[in-house]
Amino acid sequence: MLKNWEELNHQLFSESKKIVILSHRSPDGDSMGSSFGLYHFLIQFNHELQVISPDPAPPFLHWLPDFETSINYEKQKEESEKAIQEANIIFCLDFNTPSRMGDMQDGFNKKNKEAYVVNIDHHQQPDDFANFQLSDTSASSTAQLIFDFISETKGISYLNQNVAKSLYTGILTDTGSFRFSSTNPHTHRVVAVLLETGIDVNTIYQQIYDNYSQDRIKLLGFALKDKLKLYPDYNTAIIDLSEKELNHFQFQKGDTEGIVNFPLSIAWVKMSVLLTQKDGLVKMSFRSKGNFSVNELARKHFGGGGHENASGGACNLSMEKAVEKLESVLPEYQQKLHESHL
Ligand code: 5GP
Ligand code: MN
Repeated sequence: MLKNWEELNHQLFSESKKIVILSHRSPDGDSMGSSFGLYHFLIQFNHELQVISPDPAPPFLHWLPDFETSINYEKQKEESEKAIQEANIIFCLDFNTPSRMGDMQDGFNKKNKEAYVVNIDHHQQPDDFANFQLSDTSASSTAQLIFDFISETKGISYLNQNVAKSLYTGILTDTGSFRFSSTNPHTHRVVAVLLETGIDVNTIYQQIYDNYSQDRIKLLGFALKDKLKLYPDYNTAIIDLSEKELNHFQFQKGDTEGIVNFPLSIAWVKMSVLLTQKDGLVKMSFRSKGNFSVNELARKHFGGGGHENASGGACNLSMEKAVEKLESVLPEYQQKLHESHL
């Protein structure tokens, strides 16, 4: 892993630079939180900064400080490509391989040959695509790694409320509100330092979790009441939501966030899978309890990956066929699912 702090410090703090901060497709709380945490840290050094996401971030993240300065490749392709081409430094946050940028990978490939690429991430099996790579698969979130990055470079005196609100958002969302096993003493120490800036955690929580439409709660009810399929032999739960069903509930980006976690509250369910359909493509979210690795299953069968207990993937089939394919791979994992323990 390439990690020359001296070279990084020289690149980043010797003079004013043009810097872009890129995140993964379907940006989440951690990718946007870490992007804006880094943005508010670096803006203190007279850099020209631009946060770019491949596609729009969900509404529950639009309150992040200076969110309105960000652009997305899907809607602002020319502007995004120009910023990437002109950048001296390119940060790739919360993803382990360029393909996670989706179509924005084309823009990334047009970067200046001299551009210095920095990857900060916590996903499994990172690719080697950066000049400087801070990858820690045991870290709760990329936001936590941005905190470490700030400590290691200029120090925590550069944390202000804008940095803290953004990083807190990343850590809160990626740890499932501090309940996933990636939450450790360091996570809480980092959060303690963030809170010392005086940010209000209750406001942040409400902006993220108590800010949905009434349709979204009805969609959740529909998903749990009418669409939950249980497979006791495989300790598995599956929910599939077609494009038509989502449209019926006025689906907005972010509305399906968190639905996949609900079936895990059934004692015997060790893996929960949510399939959602958009523009014909079926997107899959995998979650597990205990030591069953959804990363392996998602990687092997659905061209995806992520973490041991939370992964994603996709399937270019009809919803019916996608569910059938998923059902067909369950026997391969029956033993491991059965034996999985906390
Ligand atoms: P989610 O289910 O919330 O979309 O994603 C869960 C985790 O898996 C996240 O950490 C996300 O970055 C990762 N992930 C989601 N989709 C994909 C994918 O298509 N490929 C890979 N490699 N990781 C994914
Ligand atoms: Mn993350």
